[in-house]
Amino acid sequence: MKTIPTADNSPPPLTRAELAELLGGWKGYELGTVGRLPVDGERPEEVWLELLPRLDRTKRCSGCQQCVEAVHDTEERWIRDLPLLGTPVQLLVHRCRLACPRCGPKLEHLDWLGRYQRVTRRLAESVARLARGCHSNTLPTTSVYIGAVSYTHLTLPTIYSV
Ligand SMILES: [Zn+2]
Repeated sequence: MKTIPTADNSPPPLTRAELAELLGGWKGYELGTVGRLPVDGERPEEVWLELLPRLDRTKRCSGCQQCVEAVHDTEERWIRDLPLLGTPVQLLVHRCRLACPRCGPKLEHLDWLGRYQRVTRRLAESVARLARGCHSNTLPTTSVYIGAVSYTHLTLPTIYSV
């Protein structure tokens, strides 16, 4: 018989930081607001997670890969990530452009997100693996469904470049 943890002996609930670490891999970022996107006839329910840059992170220029302290500006970008328990996920990423003394304004390098990608590196890798499994890698585009979301807009060269 399965034991259900009780309040007395169960571990404490996860903090936001622990949850972000568990879900995560969004190095240098932490969870902000979490919510649901409005559902319409053509779009299933989706969850969105706001990712805020951590103040204590080391910032690297995407051009020269050197550490840069100054932020030029920040913009919000919607990025798809892997689904959570079958529910599609979008990340609202506060993406920084750094004021690099060598390169000028450049996007901050992030291990988990390419410079101009609309999906996380791990989602792109998952789609690429599925596409290879479907033997469709000779087609210019592919249609792969992950968590009820179609990724027909991703071309294979884009996916494989991650
Ligand atoms: Zn630079």
